[in-house]
Amino acid sequence: MRPFAVPALPTRVVFGSGRLASLRDELRAAGLGSALLLCSASGRELARRLAAELPEATVGVFDQARMHVPRHTVEAAGKTAVSLGAEACVAVGGGSAVGLAKALALEAGLPYVAVPTTYSGSEMTAVWGITEAGEKTTGRSERVRPRAVVYDPDLTMSLPAGVSVTSGVNAIAHAAEALYAPDRSPLTDLMAGDGVRAMAAALPRIMERAGDPGARSSALYGAWLGGTCLGLTTMSLHHKLCHVLGGALDLPHASTHAVLLPHTLAFNLAAAPEARELMAQALGDDDPAACVWRLNRRLGVPASLRELGADRAGLVTVIEQALAVPYANPRPVDRDDLDRVLTAAFAGDAPPRLSRTA
Ligand code: NAD
Repeated sequence: MRPFAVPALPTRVVFGSGRLASLRDELRAAGLGSALLLCSASGRELARRLAAELPEATVGVFDQARMHVPRHTVEAAGKTAVSLGAEACVAVGGGSAVGLAKALALEAGLPYVAVPTTYSGSEMTAVWGITEAGEKTTGRSERVRPRAVVYDPDLTMSLPAGVSVTSGVNAIAHAAEALYAPDRSPLTDLMAGDGVRAMAAALPRIMERAGDPGARSSALYGAWLGGTCLGLTTMSLHHKLCHVLGGALDLPHASTHAVLLPHTLAFNLAAAPEARELMAQALGDDDPAACVWRLNRRLGVPASLRELGADRAGLVTVIEQALAVPYANPRPVDRDDLDRVLTAAFAGDAPPRLSRTA
């Protein structure tokens, strides 16, 4: 067995249908004072209901959370927290609400509990980001981890099927890259494999019936595992390219991950036999890249970067930026490799087949 190190799992997690009812207990157990509920527009109703149900534990609702955590939103939320005397926050929603809570934890020292309603997995990482004047600054700090995470699949029932599947494939991407990460361990391998298995099985069922409770529960479980892998390991080419594509071409986060994943997997798994084997086991398919590509087609995920609105000429900038800063990857990446991967993803081609003996 390879030598390995496993960091302590830093975040308390409670999971299950109806677990939202334990939010009061979680706030109390974490020793948190009156909390400001943070959400985006879609979470307003739920946040208001929570504020009404927990008057002794909450001070109000801030419902302006936005994708990529704009600086002005952080400032507005901070002012609201001060004016209402908030001592903590509860983030109810996806990566946008959690991202805002992270920014307030970092800058205003407000601890928080996360109640995720998408599959982004941000609540399980120490990575924060704030966008100002079109530029997103990101960093890593243990201060931005939530004190607890309450996963309640009931809250994901209203997540539209289209958002669910791209967000779900995003979670598969977190797990997939953990399988060839330089700091992977037997524990992250187990979590990644089971996360991929659970998510890949759940998404077609959600597409058929968005309110399928078993499928929603499996998908949220897969999202937790994917997010945990993201938080415990170093991501590679796939996450790097998605980050650059999002910033340079202003593409939607989860869909970009979903479109790109078959192509980055085809490239990387050819040089990562253990990861390929674990992905193959999780998906029940000897060619995991082709399998994810077919899964995307079945789920109705956009086929290409072109469909997402990418400008072909902009890919040159993406390649430059992706080459500028080195990062961990199971195989070296040069300009031609990036051009091949991005061209296929732009056109919506099937990824190259992984040979049996790769
Ligand atoms: P999001 O929070 O913006 O949610 C996507 C959409 O779904 C929004 O319109 C939201 O209002 C809606 N929505 C959320 N929950 C819903 C529900 N239950 N019912 C109906 N609608 C609902 O986006 P996301 O995909 O969850 O997260 C993406 C963001 O998270 C990006 O900004 C990304 O950079 C960030 N992210 C950060 C990390 C990290 O580790 N820091 C990890 C993953 C993602």
